[in-house]
Amino acid sequence: MLAIYVHIPFCKTLCPYCDFVKQRTAAGNRDAFTAAVTREILGFAGPREACSVFFGGGTPSQLEPAQLAAVTGALRERFDFAPEAEWTLEANPDDVTDDAARGWLDAGINRVSLGVQSLDDQTLRYLGRRHNAAAARRACETVGRHFERWSLDLMFGAPPVERWDDTLRAVNEIDPPHVAAYGLTYEASTPFARRAHEALDDDAMLGLYQRMEAAFADYDHYEISNFAKVGQHSAHNLVYWRNEPYAGFGTGAYCFVDGVRARNHPGADDYLRAPGEKAEALRLSDHEVKLETVIQHLRLRTGLPRDYYAQRFGEPVEAEFGPALASLAARGLLADDGKVITPTREGFYLNNEIGLELVG
Ligand code: SF4
Repeated sequence: MLAIYVHIPFCKTLCPYCDFVKQRTAAGNRDAFTAAVTREILGFAGPREACSVFFGGGTPSQLEPAQLAAVTGALRERFDFAPEAEWTLEANPDDVTDDAARGWLDAGINRVSLGVQSLDDQTLRYLGRRHNAAAARRACETVGRHFERWSLDLMFGAPPVERWDDTLRAVNEIDPPHVAAYGLTYEASTPFARRAHEALDDDAMLGLYQRMEAAFADYDHYEISNFAKVGQHSAHNLVYWRNEPYAGFGTGAYCFVDGVRARNHPGADDYLRAPGEKAEALRLSDHEVKLETVIQHLRLRTGLPRDYYAQRFGEPVEAEFGPALASLAARGLLADDGKVITPTREGFYLNNEIGLELVG
């Protein structure tokens, strides 16, 4: 069963910290893109069975409902989905209206991932977002009226950091069924590179993270950056965290099928010229697939079940990773009950250390 990712590169305005594949909506051609991605989906040579779809971006809510429906129609034509399959659309608060939500439902979307980032106006201005806190609250209400399953997506580490607690309180008032929260980074390829000196140090970031953990104590903190109420876990992202196969369509999208990781052209013109043509493709060695499988599972609270690994790779996890796992357990980053290897609290906080030790 494949998870399916569709990258929609359009954004109304470009946020200065963002290094995703994107272009201004006004500078792109959404009809040409819709035709290209539809062609790419219908021409996909691979399995038919699929378990989830995730429209990411960019800003997928920048597609018109008819354009979105054309893409979901192509997906239904090319793949067989279980009736309970998860169909997520990332949306920008400014694009959320009752009409838009109805259009997404009509296109088959059953989960929305809403890019709120903050519920503090000063922080939103720092991040260069189009919306303010009041618009974000209204968007949450609208999404919550139409969708049982949705995520409020946050970013932490942007000044003024003393407002972080206000955002956490506001999120708890809104009471979304799922929260995802990622730390702000100042990437070299973005306008924020000039502000890299404003980045918080690791201890300060950890402090914000721990306050978030405390604020969302009623949620299942099921992955380092993700919190869910009962039954609200992201089925699509769990495929990534288990390092299982996924197909990717659209500009710059990655796919991982049969041990090969490949990427579509990230440039808009190249993609429109040859949708689905790969800009890069890499066959991973068996060791690399095993390594990534272990590292990804150790982002999850539920960790790596030994029988899952043994069934998938035909050997115990110790065969390749015994010394590294023992060392991580001795450092207090992993717990091991003989059946499942799980990250400890400390292992959540220092998850990069787990990866580094396993890479060796
Ligand atoms: S953060 Fe989201 S909305 Fe902003 S430019 Fe990046 S993809 Fe577009």
